Amino acid sequence: MSIHSPSNNSRQILTMELAERSFKCQQCGACCRWSGHVLLTEADITRLAAAAELLEEQFIGRYTILAANRRQLSLADRPDGSCVLLEEGRCALYEARPAQCRDFPYGWRVAEGCPALEALDETSAV
Ligand code: SF4
Repeated sequence: MSIHSPSNNSRQILTMELAERSFKCQQCGACCRWSGHVLLTEADITRLAAAAELLEEQFIGRYTILAANRRQLSLADRPDGSCVLLEEGRCALYEARPAQCRDFPYGWRVAEGCPALEALDETSAV
């Protein structure tokens, strides 16, 4: 995923700032359209398959690909580059979404296009 990746120290500061200022996801799906991999853990696959009411093997066959690191599965992309689970602008399995998605914007962030982050940036610029 092409992301802005702050250093450990600045990431800790960013995390604290965001927590304090209560980042509020507007569920716009901007981070779900960002190009790159949504890497999956085994726990993610178990949770997502259960939410989709599929066997894990079925979920893997239908929705995942081998990630570029060749050690993990990631969610497949639609032809426009958006996540395969993005439906009508919303995550179809939001409650069961992968850890990487839950990490946004504390572990990683998109460079642009997220209105909630842009609102925070405007607030911090004041
Ligand atoms: S799994 Fe859901 S929250 Fe994560 S990128 Fe895909 S659509 Fe977005």
